[in-house]
Amino acid sequence: MAQNRKGILIVLSGFSGSGKGTIMKELMKKHSDVYALSISATTRAPRVGETDGIEYFFKTKEQFEEMIKNEELIEYAQYVEHYYGTPKAYVTEQLEAGKDVILEIEIQGALKIKEKFPDTLLLFVMPPSANELKERLVGRGTEKMSVIESRLHRAVEEAEGIENYDYLVINDKLEECVEQVHSIIENEHVKVSRNIEFINSMRKELQSFSKGE
Ligand code: 5GP
Repeated sequence: MAQNRKGILIVLSGFSGSGKGTIMKELMKKHSDVYALSISATTRAPRVGETDGIEYFFKTKEQFEEMIKNEELIEYAQYVEHYYGTPKAYVTEQLEAGKDVILEIEIQGALKIKEKFPDTLLLFVMPPSANELKERLVGRGTEKMSVIESRLHRAVEEAEGIENYDYLVINDKLEECVEQVHSIIENEHVKVSRNIEFINSMRKELQSFSKGE
């Protein structure tokens, strides 16, 4: 029996402006054979350059509440006045196909996922400094100053919950950060606790060999 590689559910969180979206895109570019990215539903408006079904499924509040009612979401949360949630079907399908599924979600959602699926790997991305974060948020020019302030305020709250995560990744040089995330996930696959089935089958085969079978 060969080691059976099972898909891992991975949550990537980080302050708004930490660069987690870019990290995900790069991971997919380089390793699209192993990863699947979940596309969330949201009630926030698309930013310039965002397309429905690519970055998000953009929904009205009514449509989103209908999805909640029909239990189509694994988790959902409110973030700076909008709903965000993870559609269930895609995640289940991809995990069953052996892909590592990455969810880019905020901390409340991350904790709900960990509660439902304790095997989830939680990664938190941070910029090298708070100052750098502010500059990135202002520099990207996609939000009004009042929204940037709400997002910075939210970062203060999220910073309190980082101890719930398994790994902290500093996004200073993008390329290095992407490789670091990839190797953390690769290492996770070889953890003893994730390979119990394989270990047990090896034990069985060894026992039968030792009996001369
Ligand atoms: P943004 O508006 O910048 O795209 O996302 C705002 C926040 O919502 C980010 O922290 C992002 O990770 C989070 N987010 C995106 N999709 C989901 C989701 O499906 N569920 C939860 N709980 N948070 C999400």
